[in-house]
Amino acid sequence: MQNGKLIIFSAPSGAGKTTIVQHLLTKIPELEFSISATTRKPRGDEKHGKDYYFISKEEFLHRIARKQFVEFEEVYSGTFYGTLRTEIERIWENGKTVIFDIDVEGGLHLKRKYDGQALAIFVQPPSLEVLKERLTGRGTDSHEKLQERFKKAEKELNYAPQFDIILKNHDLQTACSEAEELVRQFMAHSS
Ligand code: ADP
Ligand code: 5GP
Repeated sequence: MQNGKLIIFSAPSGAGKTTIVQHLLTKIPELEFSISATTRKPRGDEKHGKDYYFISKEEFLHRIARKQFVEFEEVYSGTFYGTLRTEIERIWENGKTVIFDIDVEGGLHLKRKYDGQALAIFVQPPSLEVLKERLTGRGTDSHEKLQERFKKAEKELNYAPQFDIILKNHDLQTACSEAEELVRQFMAHSS
């Protein structure tokens, strides 16, 4: 399939997009997760080829030079993340809809690039304070990394109006149900 659909979940780190995307993947078998490439090291029990393609900076730069990314970004200083063109093609070939968990700028980039085929959803936490609590509570980032993520989050919250939909993530169960409804509607009705 050449022109499948895309569903983009973006938000500042800690808003809950990974949790919501993982929920959708268990509920809607027609969705397949776009595995990004990154130069960061695996966290916890993350696996290469499942959560990310964990590659070296040299390999990442080589792939940029060969124009293999649909979009990429140095999301945090010295740490690159990007979507490989082959990843989207692989999922469309499987006849599935691609679902992304991607940062705000990357999400808007994809929305512009695939205008008409994409649904772009911004996951909004109740407040910056709650977002900081969630990110700290997740317990996966060092003090230094947390400060970097908080700083970026403050800026990213301003991008919400540029998305198709703002999904509030106050109560997780409610947010997951709303996300499921939105995605099912989009998959059923868009051409
Ligand atoms: P992101 O992928 O946007 O960085 P995560 O999905 O990793 O965010 O969520 C960050 C943390 O907040 C996780 O520990 C997750 O369990 C928790 N979380 C997500 N949504 C909620 C919610 N509605 N209420 C309370 N905690 C939440
Ligand atoms: P984390 O290190 O927490 O897994 O991800 C950090 C940020 O990078 C998150 O906001 C995540 O959504 C984003 N991200 C993951 N993959 C990509 C990608 O392929 N491109 C871009 N631009 N951002 C990504």
